[in-house]
Amino acid sequence: MMPVVKKTAFTTHADCLKHEMGAGHPEQPARLTAIEDQLIASGVGQFLDRREAPLATDEQIARVHPIEYVQAIREASPQSGRVHLDPDTAMNPHTLQACLRAAGAAVFATDLVMSGEVANAFCSVRPPGHHACRTRPMGFCVFNNVAIAARHAIATHGAGRVVIIDFDVHQGNGTEEIFEGDEHVLMASTFQHPFYPYSGTDSPASNMVNIPLPAGAGSMQFREAVAKYWIPALDEFAADLMIISAGFDAHQEDDLASLRLADDDYRWVTQELKAVAERHGGGRIVSVLEGGYSLSALGRSAVQHLRVLAGVN
Ligand SMILES: [Zn+2]
Repeated sequence: MMPVVKKTAFTTHADCLKHEMGAGHPEQPARLTAIEDQLIASGVGQFLDRREAPLATDEQIARVHPIEYVQAIREASPQSGRVHLDPDTAMNPHTLQACLRAAGAAVFATDLVMSGEVANAFCSVRPPGHHACRTRPMGFCVFNNVAIAARHAIATHGAGRVVIIDFDVHQGNGTEEIFEGDEHVLMASTFQHPFYPYSGTDSPASNMVNIPLPAGAGSMQFREAVAKYWIPALDEFAADLMIISAGFDAHQEDDLASLRLADDDYRWVTQELKAVAERHGGGRIVSVLEGGYSLSALGRSAVQHLRVLAGVN
C-alpha cells in the first residue's frame, strides 16, 4: 500500500455503541464494529487519523432544529428501558448522548476539513440523520447530522455553497425538507423508488437533484445516474464543501432494500465525488454514515469509501 500524503480523519465515539433499539433491530451497535473490523482486516485503518467526537451544542443543533424540538428530545430521554419516537425509532438511556456525539462528529469533522487540518473526514456514527426533519424524528434518525454540519460550515467557516450527496437507498426526506429552496445548498441523491419514505419525486425544489432508481437497479443504472445527472450539476454549482450522507444499504447484500450495488460501486462513486471536490472545493469532503444493515457488506463498502478518501492504493 502507498503512504498517504494528506490525512483523512475518522471520527467516532464509544457512546454511539450504547444506543440500542432492541434485539433484532437492524440499526444496531454491531454496524460500527463491522466497520472497525474491516478497517483492521483491510489494513486501511492504519492510514486514518482517528479523532474522538465531541458533543454537539444546542447552538449547533438549533441551526437546523428549533430549540423546542431539542428540548423535547431531551425530555423524552428515558432513565431506563426504552421509549419510541416513531414505530422504527426508539431511545434508550444512552440514545441522547449518542445523538449528540453523532451530530458533534459531523460538526467537528467540518471544522477539521474547513480549517485544512485534514483533507477529508468520515464520521462512523449512529444514529443516522437523513430522515430527521426539522421538528420530527423518523426512520432511525433524531437529529439531521449532515444538515447540522452544512449549516455549521456556512455559519462559522464562511462556506458560500455546500453540496450534500446522498447515496443511501432511502430518500433523504429530512435533508430535503430542511434545505429545499436554500440557495446555499445543493442536494444530489439516488434512492430506490417507490420505497420508504415515499418522497423526493413530487416536484422537488430546483436545488434538489433527486434521481429515483427502480427496485433491482444495479451498478450500471447507478453509475449512469451519477454521470448524467449528478456530475454536471455538481460542476455547475462548484461547492466550497461536499458533505456525503453515506448510506451503504443500496448494496445487493442488504436485505432492507432491493437495489443491487456492489462493493466496487462505492469505490467508484467516491472517486467521482473526490474528483469533483478537488475541481471546486479544494478536495474538502465530510462524509457521515447513514444506513447499511448487512454487517459484512457495510464494513466492506465503508472501507472502499475510506480507501479512496484516504488515497490508499
Ligand atoms: Zn437507508
